[in-house]
Amino acid sequence: MCGIAGYIGKNCAEKQLLESLKLLEYRGYDSAGIAVQDKNKINITKTTGKIIALENMLTSTKSICGIAHTRWATHGAPTYENTHPHLSNDSTWAVVHNGIIENYGTIKKDLISKGYNFKSETDTEVIANLLQQQNSNDIHALINTCNMLIGSYALACINKNIPNKIFLARKKSPLYVASEQGEVFIASDPVCFLSKASEYYTLADNQYCIASTKHLEFFNTSGQKINLQPTKTEKFDISYQKHNYKHYMEKEINQVPAVLNNLIETYKSADLLKKFDKNYLAKFNKIVLIGCGTAYHAGLMGARYIQEFARIDASCHIASEYRYCNPIIDNKTLCILVSQSGETADTLAVCELAKAHGATTVALTNVLYSTLARMADEILPVCAGTEIAVASTKAYTAQITVLYMFAKQLQNVIANKKENYYEIVHKLAKKITIPSPKSLKKAVLEVLASEKVFFIGRDYDYVSVKEASLKLKEITYINTAEHPAGELKHGFLSLVDKNSVVFALATQQHLLNKTLNGAHEALARGAKVIMVSQFNIPKEQTQGFYHTVKLQKFSEELLPISCISFFQLLAYETSLAKGLNPDQPRNLAKSVTVE
Ligand code: GLU
Repeated sequence: MCGIAGYIGKNCAEKQLLESLKLLEYRGYDSAGIAVQDKNKINITKTTGKIIALENMLTSTKSICGIAHTRWATHGAPTYENTHPHLSNDSTWAVVHNGIIENYGTIKKDLISKGYNFKSETDTEVIANLLQQQNSNDIHALINTCNMLIGSYALACINKNIPNKIFLARKKSPLYVASEQGEVFIASDPVCFLSKASEYYTLADNQYCIASTKHLEFFNTSGQKINLQPTKTEKFDISYQKHNYKHYMEKEINQVPAVLNNLIETYKSADLLKKFDKNYLAKFNKIVLIGCGTAYHAGLMGARYIQEFARIDASCHIASEYRYCNPIIDNKTLCILVSQSGETADTLAVCELAKAHGATTVALTNVLYSTLARMADEILPVCAGTEIAVASTKAYTAQITVLYMFAKQLQNVIANKKENYYEIVHKLAKKITIPSPKSLKKAVLEVLASEKVFFIGRDYDYVSVKEASLKLKEITYINTAEHPAGELKHGFLSLVDKNSVVFALATQQHLLNKTLNGAHEALARGAKVIMVSQFNIPKEQTQGFYHTVKLQKFSEELLPISCISFFQLLAYETSLAKGLNPDQPRNLAKSVTVE
C-alpha cells in the first residue's frame, strides 16, 4: 500500500512525479503529496483526497528533483497533517514511506525527550527526525536511521543541502529505480518506467541507494558499495484504456473470455505444467496453499480441486494467520502462494517461512516481476493482464483456472491419465458469456432494498459464495456474510428475518437438494431467497423464492470458474446503483504491502 515515486532530471519534477503518482494510485488514495528541491529549501505541496486534487494545486516550477507519495493510511487518519512527504524539524530532510514502523512509539518518545516536535500522528515522521539527528549527509545517515527501525519500509528521502540526489532504502516493501539519458525515475512499481527507461534496478531488503543523474550507487547495510543487475523493462503488459466501459472493474469482468484464451496459449506453448511430473511430485506428501482475501478464496478452490482430482492432501490457509500458527511444514511440503500483485506482505512472509523450513515454493501471481515471483522456486503465471480495479475479478477467475489445470495435471501424472485440460478450458473460453446488466436488475434492486445480504452454498459453492460475499462487501459497503448451507441451524438463522436477502448457490447435482433445504429454512424465516443454479429445478421446489437466476451450463467442476462473473457484476451494478465508484472503494487499496 502507499505508492512512492522520485524523479531527478531535466524536466519539471512535479509533472514527472504526478505522472508516476497516477500510475501508483491503485496502491492508496487517502491523500497525496510532492516535495521538490528548490535552491536551498524543500517545497511541499500536499492534500487529502485523490491525485486529481493534488494535480489541481500544482504549478510548474523549475525544480528538477523531488519525491512523491500517494497514501493508504496505516497510522493516523487521512488528514492533511498526516499526508506525506514528512519534514524533519529543521526542514532539512523530506521523507516518503511505504510500510509500517512498528517501534515508532518508543523512537518518538525518545525524540520528544530530546526536544523534537511532531506535527503528524504517522509512524513515518520519526524517520525524518532520525535523519536530522544523524548529522551526516552521506548514505550512513540513512543506514544508521534504518538500523533503528523495526518494521517494513520503502523510503525515498531528499535533503535540502544535497541537490539533485535521492536517498533510498528498502525492507519488505517494494522499491525500484531506473536511470536513462540523464533522468532518474524511482517508484514502488516499475510500471512507472514504461516508455521512460529501458531497464531498471530492484532494491532487495536491506539495500540502499543514492540516486543522481550521474550514477546510481547501491550499498549494503555496512555502507559498502554493491553491484545490482538491471532488469529489462519491455516485459510489461499494460493497458490503461477503459475502451467503452465506464469502469475498469466492468472492463476486467468482461475480459474473462480473452484472459482464459491468453492463459491457455501461454501455458500450452511453453508447456508450463509439464515440470510437475511423477519425479517432481514424489518429493511431497502435502500441498499447502496460501493467500489473503480473494487470493485466499482462489487457494481454497485450488485445494479443493487438488484433493478432488489428484487425491493429494491439500489445504489452504490465510497468510496472516498461517505465519503465526507454528505450522507443520517441511521439505515434503509444496507451498503454493497466491497473490495477484505478488507483493502481499503476509504472503511474502509465509514464502520466507516456507523456504526456511525447506519447503518448495510456487508463486501463483499476475505480476512476474514482483517480489513473490523473484522469491519463489517456481512461478505459475496468472496471465490476467494488468488489473486496475481494486476489487479483483478477472485475476480470481484466472487463478482458479490455473489451479484447475494444475490439479488436472497432477491427476494425469498420478492416475496415468491423458486428459487434455487445455482443450477443456479452451472450450469453456469459447462458450462462456458474461451476464448482461439487464439480467441482474431484479437481484440488484432486492439487494439495495435489504438491510442484510447473505450467501449460502456447499462445497465448491461455499468457496464461490465466500468470494461473492467479499465482492459485494468491498465495493458496496453492505454488511454481507456467507455461510455453509448445511450450517444454518448452528447460529446463522437467528440473523434471518424479512429484511434479509439470501443468495443460495447450487451447482453440484448431489448437493442441490441439500442447498435447497437451507434456502427453504431461510425462506421459512421470512428471507427473500434468490436461487442461483444451472439446473432446471422443479417449480414446486422453488415455490416462494423471490427470484431464480439460471446460470450457463458447464460441467460441475468448471462452474466455479464460470459462475463467479454473475456475483462480480452483481456487486458492480449494486455499487453503481448506490452512486459509488466501484474501482476505488473507500479504505481499500490494490496491493497490500503492509502486514
Ligand atoms: N505508515 C505510513 C502511514 O500511515 C505509510 C502507510 C503505507 O505504506 O501503507 O502514513
